[in-house]
Amino acid sequence: MMKISIIGSGYVGIVTGIGFAELGNEVIFVDIDESKINLINSAKPPIYERGLKELMQKNKERFYATIDYNEAINKSQITFICVGTPPNPDGSINLDYVKSAAEALGKALKNKKDFHTVVIKSTVLPGTTEDVVKPIIEKESGKEAFEEFGLASNPEFLREGNAVYDFFNPDRIVIGVKDEKSKEILEQLYNSFNCPKLITDIKTAEMIKYTSNAFLATKISFANEIGNICKKLGIDAYEVFKGVGLDHRINPSFFRAGIGFGGSCFPKDVKALIAKAEELGEDPKLLKAVIDVNEEQPLRLIELLKKHIPDLNGKTIGILGLAFKPDTDDIRESRAIPIVRILLNEGARVVAYDPKAMENFQNIFPQVDYAPSEKVLESDAVLIVTEWGEFKNLNYKGRIIIDGRRIEKAKEEARIYEGVCW
Ligand code: NAD
Repeated sequence: MMKISIIGSGYVGIVTGIGFAELGNEVIFVDIDESKINLINSAKPPIYERGLKELMQKNKERFYATIDYNEAINKSQITFICVGTPPNPDGSINLDYVKSAAEALGKALKNKKDFHTVVIKSTVLPGTTEDVVKPIIEKESGKEAFEEFGLASNPEFLREGNAVYDFFNPDRIVIGVKDEKSKEILEQLYNSFNCPKLITDIKTAEMIKYTSNAFLATKISFANEIGNICKKLGIDAYEVFKGVGLDHRINPSFFRAGIGFGGSCFPKDVKALIAKAEELGEDPKLLKAVIDVNEEQPLRLIELLKKHIPDLNGKTIGILGLAFKPDTDDIRESRAIPIVRILLNEGARVVAYDPKAMENFQNIFPQVDYAPSEKVLESDAVLIVTEWGEFKNLNYKGRIIIDGRRIEKAKEEARIYEGVCW
């Protein structure tokens, strides 16, 4: 049993902390957002993630949240920094949250007598833990890293929508360390996990995270490029990928065409890696193409729509799905954003439904009408943007459906049906 503090209680922080609590540890969450603190203290999830609410209820004696760094650091032996690392407008990584978390943590560490380990779980570019975080904590605490406090990297690979499952069933755990004490404490903390555990130096651990996300994003953009060619040839890209994915060197998972990837990770992490590569004098041609393909892909849905409704002005267009993927309320970089923007610019009235993400979407698009799925289906044409399970059971009979996510029932039932890559 360990005493753990988690700085940043968003998607990664809350799932990680509650996961550790379920394993018997005591967890203190820290956030700057008081509304999240209050929710956590009433055992309510600050974000939607399947199974999280139940786990919070079950383990409510084992965790609490505070805005007080001193208390959190003093009452724990290890801290995970899980704050956001969003992109700057030029695509480079914005480390403001990481820096301010490191600063506050360093100040709190100053008066602590016992050894404390700080672990960076936020996705940060190789070198960040040692070149950015370490000097800040050392300055604020007056202590020396790897001697008087531990510092490590433990990148997170969970998938939003499956985050709780992924916490307990990771493919691997990557631990980037330099000091022996931090290595021991992390090994002990993850002792009950059966997956491969890779111990590396800190920079390598950071790079593993970027390389994983860059590869997965590449796999999607590759599938989309092939899918676009298939569409022109009148070939179903899904059949093609089935045949190709059976090659064990390729693997069928995550090999799908559609309208591209969104979310808080792939777009920003690939862009951050591009910016870093360029800073190093490299020209990452492939990674740039991955982003280009991804940005053009949602526009294909509009092109297909216009094949059937050339002038969108005054037409009602329905949108099924606003979240960047199913089973989440997260709309960061959702493909629905550029699609809805274009529809509105062209004078269409947009009616949208999403099981979880309507509230978040409404904050950026108040001019969209939000309605139940049956109402959305009454539109002049409907675009399927997110692959929610419940969309597999809707009645598409008589409708014009432009599908970005391959919903078989829509394919079978719609009066007019277009799939983006099939
Ligand atoms: P998020 O925006 O959901 O949560 C970040 C939290 O940090 C927020 O609650 C915010 O209020 C809090 N915060 C910001 N500054 C703070 C500070 N100084 N002190 C305390 N709290 C502070 O972000 P997220 O999606 O959980 O991502 C966190 C990190 O994990 C990012 O680096 C991301 O790239 C990485 N990551 C995310 C996922 C994912 O699926 N979301 C998966 C793997 C890795």
